[in-house]
Amino acid sequence: MSVLVVGSTALDSIKTPQAENPRLLGGSASHAGVAASFFTPVHLVGIVGDDFPKRYINLYQRHGIHLEALQIVPGKTFHWAGEYEVNMNNRRTLKTELGVFETFSPTLPKAHRESAYVLLANIAPSLQHHVLDQMQRPKFVIADTMDLWLNIALAELLKLLRRIDAFVLNDSEARLLTKDDNLLSAVQKIHRLGPKYVIVKKGEHGSLVSSPRGLFLAPAFPLQKVVDPTGAGDSFVGGLVGYLASRGGSIDAHLKCAVVHGSAVASFCCEGFGLTRTTRITRQAIEDRVKVLRKIVRF
Ligand code: AMP
Repeated sequence: MSVLVVGSTALDSIKTPQAENPRLLGGSASHAGVAASFFTPVHLVGIVGDDFPKRYINLYQRHGIHLEALQIVPGKTFHWAGEYEVNMNNRRTLKTELGVFETFSPTLPKAHRESAYVLLANIAPSLQHHVLDQMQRPKFVIADTMDLWLNIALAELLKLLRRIDAFVLNDSEARLLTKDDNLLSAVQKIHRLGPKYVIVKKGEHGSLVSSPRGLFLAPAFPLQKVVDPTGAGDSFVGGLVGYLASRGGSIDAHLKCAVVHGSAVASFCCEGFGLTRTTRITRQAIEDRVKVLRKIVRF
């Protein structure tokens, strides 16, 4: 089964202590869409300007990502610039230029409205609502967010939480949302806001999953060198939902494996700038890392 992914389709300029790379393919939907594409066909919903390089369109297509709902319009593509500190965890946003995203209001093709699996990747909650409004009874809706929306669009985000099955956020966002420093009680508060599944990303420390089957702690794949973690969270959720769609059946039965597959894809993302590493891997490489993860947590 395919996955519908809506989110940002961007050009990213990324600076680390080691190197600087301008105008890479980025955006939450690009990272999530490529990650999901290793498991299942993807329908991408997004918008880019006429400055968007053709090679990036080709790259989406090489990954079997369907682009009927990618608008290419006159104007500038969403541009985000960020800089990492030496520890490669702390990041400063240098620039967010919305460009053509300012007027984005997608109308989904009929076939897209029937997608069973929907990923509302990080983008303004109003846009996440707009896409969800057009869907016909999806089986599983998962949403991601960022601190910006908790700060400037909280009411919309809270409304969204009542409409989705699963919510993915990082640990500091969980604390910001619930005003609770204890992650476990923060997660319980988030369940009460709506989602049946709450997945908290903890960067290099993995993730915490809370579902009707209880808690699950998934490790991050251990890496000795991180080149650029931009998009790791998006790759994680993309891999996770792509895996679930590929398995079908019960979400509860496959969620743990899905999370571990998400961790494996995210680890590749961190090993190269933007999508450069992720777009060079194979499904087998992901499975090899899943095997390692299985081994290092078994006791
Ligand atoms: P992550 O590293 O998982 O936080 O995701 C980084 C990606 O988020 C980059 O590729 C950016 O293009 C994208 N991004 C940054 N700011 C925003 C925003 N305000 N809305 C949507 N996407 C964004």
